Amino acid sequence: MDRSTDPGAAPLTLLHDHLDGGLRPATVIELAAHAGVPLPAGITTAGALADWFVVRPGESLAEVFARFDLPIRVMQTTEALSRVAREAAEDVAADGVRSVEFRFAPTHHTAGGLSLDAVVEAVLAGLAGAPPEARVLLCSMRGERRTDEVVDLAGRWHGRGVVGVDLAGVEVGEPVGPHRSAFARARSMGLGVTLHAGEMVGAESVADAIVDDVPVRIGHGFRIVEDCRVRDGEIVDLGPTAAAVLDRRLPLEVCLTSNAALGTPVERHPFLALARAGFAVTINTDNRTLTPCSLTSELALARRLGATDDELATMRSTAAGARFPDP
Ligand SMILES: [Zn+2]
Repeated sequence: MDRSTDPGAAPLTLLHDHLDGGLRPATVIELAAHAGVPLPAGITTAGALADWFVVRPGESLAEVFARFDLPIRVMQTTEALSRVAREAAEDVAADGVRSVEFRFAPTHHTAGGLSLDAVVEAVLAGLAGAPPEARVLLCSMRGERRTDEVVDLAGRWHGRGVVGVDLAGVEVGEPVGPHRSAFARARSMGLGVTLHAGEMVGAESVADAIVDDVPVRIGHGFRIVEDCRVRDGEIVDLGPTAAAVLDRRLPLEVCLTSNAALGTPVERHPFLALARAGFAVTINTDNRTLTPCSLTSELALARRLGATDDELATMRSTAAGARFPDP
């Protein structure tokens, strides 16, 4: 289904992929042995670990987020960070991706004594010369209050591979408010800004994210459909938040398999209704190890769910056009 040989199709572009959610299980085992980090009880092979990583339907958010603990514990040295970044680039390149923005939270990788700058430098070193055009987004976590620090860090590496910042972590009970001025500052510095919103919480979370026009893209964002009137699978009217997202053409970084793992079955996912109503829908992976997928498998899934060739081509060109510029 990859139309990369089709001269009319935009090169495959991946906008939303977490470095710590996409490690090769075999690499986790090697890095864990080297760092003295224990594997989950009873796990000895890469196959068993791959299975352990997979998020099952019905798991709580706490259980899902706990899956990131092991990858993060083994990503605490420059060597480990560079290796994980290099392998992620190799893996998405093997899938046919030509341009990718990887994201991660630098504050999660200082437990071994690295500075925030050393963490970013190690990831960029791993991506240097990578086959796909690889850029980096730095995540600030909703539960932390370090967004100013992350924005300053991104500013120092802007133009050297870092192109933007993100707000990640549990949406529930953690509004954008305390982070807003830092993200506004990021925009004034020329950094791209994408905020996870409308994934775990409904349209009100998207409304919270776009006050004063801060985001340039929205991570997931599909629950904006809760601010739309839908009849027979078609969006027929928009509430104020949905209208604001549509008017601003804010790209939505949809991740079908990941969204399904958090409770929105793919058959009920509104991505196609949103695309047909004119929203700037893009297709992404989120966490390739925790919710096993690739960009081409997600595009194939979108096709199985009814997207036509033309609609898929539009999603691809929307993604290519929504990349954050590297100054
Ligand atoms: Zn994400």
